[in-house]
Amino acid sequence: MKPSVFIDRKVPEEVKAYIAEHCSIDCWEDETTIPRPLLLDKLAKADGLLTSGRRIDSELLERSPNLKAVSTISVGYNHFDLQAMKDRGIIGTHTPYVLDDTVADLALALMLGTARRVAELDRYVKEGRWTSGDGVKLFGRDVHHAALGIIGMGRIGEAVARRARFGFEMDVLYYNRSRKPEAEQKLGVRYAGLKELLAASDFVVMLAPLSAETTRMIGREEFKLMKPASIFINVSRGRTIDEAALIEALREGTIAGAGLDVYEKEPIPADHPFLKMDNVLTLPHIGSATEKTRFDMAMLAAQNLVSALTGGTPSAIVAELR
Ligand code: NAP
Repeated sequence: MKPSVFIDRKVPEEVKAYIAEHCSIDCWEDETTIPRPLLLDKLAKADGLLTSGRRIDSELLERSPNLKAVSTISVGYNHFDLQAMKDRGIIGTHTPYVLDDTVADLALALMLGTARRVAELDRYVKEGRWTSGDGVKLFGRDVHHAALGIIGMGRIGEAVARRARFGFEMDVLYYNRSRKPEAEQKLGVRYAGLKELLAASDFVVMLAPLSAETTRMIGREEFKLMKPASIFINVSRGRTIDEAALIEALREGTIAGAGLDVYEKEPIPADHPFLKMDNVLTLPHIGSATEKTRFDMAMLAAQNLVSALTGGTPSAIVAELR
């Protein structure tokens, strides 16, 4: 009998067809997120789950006695309770590499957008406020030749560094728990401690994955170390920073601006202070959201799942579950 798979979100027809060649499938076709009780019902008999961002915890695993593999259509897997999955021998897979360049492009878009005030000045033009020449009040900051600090120099971090070094001739520092001599040589980037990186950078880009160690890794003390003219970019996960501390730093002029794709709570509440701040560029978690990359991610996630359920070795099992 074919293994059974539940797909908890809309995916391209080609992706569904690929899974259906090897497994029996049931899909949630609605645009809304499947309610948790219904998801648990669907998983009562499923061998595999194709998902994106749904919390995979002990309760869900207990209610899914046949479940063998969970494949997420994302590179981040902070929604996996890794210990609970390990305890039950669940294979967990994700989608590294296929989104690196797309997410790196967005990090650069946030750097350029904040530095040159793109969204703010777009509103300025469209609201008919452009009545005289380009006065001092429209000035921004240079990205080219500025100093960039990357926290979390992994696959996406390296793609950001490549753009920054070779496209914008930036001076690039990075901070990881471990040094990457190969990247230093290939990209001409320099390793720095976190404090040194924060103090020296004109732009800081957060790209470390969310974990117990990185939760609120950047807070009040860290923002205080940054230059008053610097800009903080978060493309990782909202909870890697202390949002209240970032709001305070922006209000008090501790730093000059922020470009954000991710938030503590998503979607961001309509009354959130960021939404009223001209020096904050806000995007709705679209780092990997291009048609091609989202297709590639969904197909890779499908291949991972089929492989896990048919006796193969998926190409992208998450590191902690290998
Ligand atoms: P990756 O290749 O695993 O790189 C992560 C880097 O972070 C590694 O080099 C790692 O180096 C470093 N790191 C991990 N823990 C750290 C810590 N405690 N302190 C300092 N550095 C630490 O991951 P990736 O593929 O580049 O993706 C990075 C993250 O981007 C994902 O986890 C996800 O959260 C986020 N993301 C967001 C979007 C979006 O739509 N906005 C899209 C894709 C990805 P060491 O192990 O040496 O410390």
